[in-house]
Amino acid sequence: MLRTSVIVPSLERPALFKNLLDFLLQQTMRPYEVIMVNHSFDRKLEVYEDIVKQYRRVIRINHVMNHSSSLARSYNLGIRASRGNIVLFLDDDVILDRNLIEEHTKTYIKDPRVCGVQGSVIDIQEEDLEPPLWKRRYPWRRPFSGLEKYAFALTRTFRDIYLGKGDETLLRSGGNMSIRKSIISNFLVDENNVKCLGFEIELTLKILNANPQCVFKYNREARVYHIKYPRGASRPWDFKSAYNYGKAILHNVFKFKNYLKPKGININIVLEELFRTAYCIKRANTKPLALILGERLGATVGLGCSLIKNIARGYEQEYVSFKAITLTFDDGYLSVYEKALPTLETYDLKGVVFLISRLISGFFEGQRLLNLKHLKELIRKEWEVASHTRTHRKLIHLPTKEKIIEITRSKDDLERKLSINVQTFAYPYGAYDHASMFIASKFYMFARTVQPGINYLSSWIGYNRYALKGTIVREENIREVKNKIKKVKDNGGWLILVFHNIVDNVQEIPPDNIKRCWITYRKFKEIIETIVRLDIPVKTFNEIIFKKT
Ligand SMILES: [Zn+2]
Repeated sequence: MLRTSVIVPSLERPALFKNLLDFLLQQTMRPYEVIMVNHSFDRKLEVYEDIVKQYRRVIRINHVMNHSSSLARSYNLGIRASRGNIVLFLDDDVILDRNLIEEHTKTYIKDPRVCGVQGSVIDIQEEDLEPPLWKRRYPWRRPFSGLEKYAFALTRTFRDIYLGKGDETLLRSGGNMSIRKSIISNFLVDENNVKCLGFEIELTLKILNANPQCVFKYNREARVYHIKYPRGASRPWDFKSAYNYGKAILHNVFKFKNYLKPKGININIVLEELFRTAYCIKRANTKPLALILGERLGATVGLGCSLIKNIARGYEQEYVSFKAITLTFDDGYLSVYEKALPTLETYDLKGVVFLISRLISGFFEGQRLLNLKHLKELIRKEWEVASHTRTHRKLIHLPTKEKIIEITRSKDDLERKLSINVQTFAYPYGAYDHASMFIASKFYMFARTVQPGINYLSSWIGYNRYALKGTIVREENIREVKNKIKKVKDNGGWLILVFHNIVDNVQEIPPDNIKRCWITYRKFKEIIETIVRLDIPVKTFNEIIFKKT
């Protein structure tokens, strides 16, 4: 049974808070508790206390005081005080649909991979959080801060942007979002970001950076209506606050960049600022000029300071990013058992073998493949068995029906024959299209390509997780691979290495090795020893998915 703790920061608005309690009492699924984090000044305190006293008879309320008046601190105090399995963040100035909590809970029950749910926030005067189609087509036209715009671009494939399909998202609005307590208890809202601008996305990114297996879903049925109480905690209402707002937003954009790539991309930020300035001018008739000036001035000063800081620091990374190497072996050659297994065993490392499910114990390109006995031993030694289709045909050339069979039945075959759970898929020849990605996303946690490169946070967000980069290792490119391994050591990231057949002598390497990608045992060992020497964690996909947080 999932218990929901509702966290509501409230500032000098007891009447709205009382309203919210009434809505919570009418829910089809009652919350386990309400945690009201109060950062009001003394004069409203009594009113709050009276409300709490009055409602405690019917609902469990935890009244937490925050003396610092920082919103970020309120969130952290609320998280710490909560005792449910799910924490649901709500603003105090909202109207709830009766099934709000039920809808949040349902999303977790339906899909156990879900770590967080974003509900929809409808501004009573303005449009839905979900933009109309023409705006989805041109996301840069959206009146969002840079953070949200990037998140939007990251979480949807082109197909989703055009068709409005897909429900994976990043958390975007603290006015209606929930997170599993077991996940969020390891993270804090950044208290330097006093007004919590874009804190939702930053929090999601922190979580994803440490837990690549986390999935965040958007549930449009979990609805709240925003009353838009004037002078909210985070919106500017005079020149000075508009100035600070503009500066703070930009500061966050820079931080956000650091999560995604080891180097900040300044040109993008400058372009984005130009877009936003243009947008502000467009809005000059609806917003007071002083606010527009303040915001733009703040952003310009912020941009200048951040650029200088970034340049002076030499793009030093602010966040330690996820660091791991995954060793994968495609097609299931016998040499995986005869050569790779004993080598990895000496260093206590585990690999992942991608099997062609119809070719177990058979031959592929004239080479003997692993049989069931070998595979059972690999599994006993905690190797991961993953799927590489049924017959190794190029998926992009197959009709949809055949794609589905290749992608899903291979999983069934392996699970039945070996009594295991198969969570990862690799596209034959690394060739994939949107349809294959979409099918894979319904049955697997990850799918790997053979696009060379290192995976950073953006690679495992949303559908990007079904196009993970995999670097092929073959006799001729050992030096490049070693450089990549060193890069992971220095900058973090997730490097997935792809091996094929391992042979004893250089004479055995085929002349068309650029296509076949074999490697000698000597070079293979060199790679493994480099990883061990640099002490980079080696993980299977399963270890990443099921890691204890
Ligand atoms: Zn293959």
